[in-house]
Amino acid sequence: MKITKLTTYRIPPRWMLLKIETDEGVTGWGEPVIEGKARTVEAAVHEYAPYLVGQDPSRINDLWQMMYRAGFYRGGAILMSAIAGIDQALWDIKGKVLGVPVYQLLGGLVRDKMKTYSWVGGDRPADVIEGMRRLREAGFDTFKMNGTEELGIIDSARKVDQAVQRVAEIRSAFGDAVEFGLDFHGRVAAPMAKVLLRELEPFRPLFVEEPVLAEQYEVYRALADHTAIPLAAGERMYSRFEFKHVFQQGGLSIVQPDLSHAGGITECLKIAAMAEAYDIALAPHCPLGPVALASCLQVDFVSHNAVLQEQSMGIHYNQGGEVLDYVKNKEDFKLTNGYIQPLPKPGLGVEIDEERVIEASRNAPDWRNPVWRHEDGSIAEW
Ligand SMILES: [Mg+2]
Repeated sequence: MKITKLTTYRIPPRWMLLKIETDEGVTGWGEPVIEGKARTVEAAVHEYAPYLVGQDPSRINDLWQMMYRAGFYRGGAILMSAIAGIDQALWDIKGKVLGVPVYQLLGGLVRDKMKTYSWVGGDRPADVIEGMRRLREAGFDTFKMNGTEELGIIDSARKVDQAVQRVAEIRSAFGDAVEFGLDFHGRVAAPMAKVLLRELEPFRPLFVEEPVLAEQYEVYRALADHTAIPLAAGERMYSRFEFKHVFQQGGLSIVQPDLSHAGGITECLKIAAMAEAYDIALAPHCPLGPVALASCLQVDFVSHNAVLQEQSMGIHYNQGGEVLDYVKNKEDFKLTNGYIQPLPKPGLGVEIDEERVIEASRNAPDWRNPVWRHEDGSIAEW
């Protein structure tokens, strides 16, 4: 079998799908994308295409190493996302050829169902109580929300109080019937992270995500020494070579590699295994589309340390397209009390509605990250 063609489709709300075709008629789907840089990743995918066409798609390990190493320059959000989507599509092909779900090829299930959580409250967190109330009716008891709006390197007691108040209201409304993670989204710098973690600790959030930016990873250890709240990060780390620094240094309780950003299934399995050796949990990042989610689930279902799966149904970013819009086998993605079952179909387990994808790709808008500024006009982390 040989790879014959790579086709990319940018689709709303901010995703990209990749179709890899073979000379034997089996096709695989991947989701190579960086939110806000879909065209850049698309160009990278097409730069890899000449290296892939004519190759045997079953040699995923070799093709991965070729993409990673043969280009000399490597790593980073764009290249590792391009590799990620290609890798996913190759696993999809392999599973379809052999007639089994990918998790069977990876040694089989370690659990019967996987816990997911739902986003609540939007970019600038608001109406969290009402949102949780609605989502609880849909069966969710675990949530994630942004912890703060823009925050200065040193900021006011008023901003701290707002963040703490929001969390206090959740506990007073629902007691311990809900769990929630707080995403600092890299908006918080080290000095305020210390303040916020101390103030938030009495409300026992499940975790705090990106308490500071990944490029300040050396701070994680110091923060962890000072709080009992589990710290999570990893959506902006792109390979095991980056994750090794946080494993070596300590500080994180949960790693969150993104299956569409960190080299795909092949690489994230290795990151998951490294994390297990350090007693660190896995919670793959996934505010993306259906192929990314299906890929995350393949890793979750074979990783003992996988604890939570993010998914973007109803997330605030999804304007003009929802996860299941492009999926034919919607019933396989049904959530029961926040849990999802192993996807039963061969390959990644997602049947893409190609006609719908092609149609949607015709006028796909370019999603762009918002630009936030502090009150003094300087750029704020979003
Ligand atoms: Mg995040």
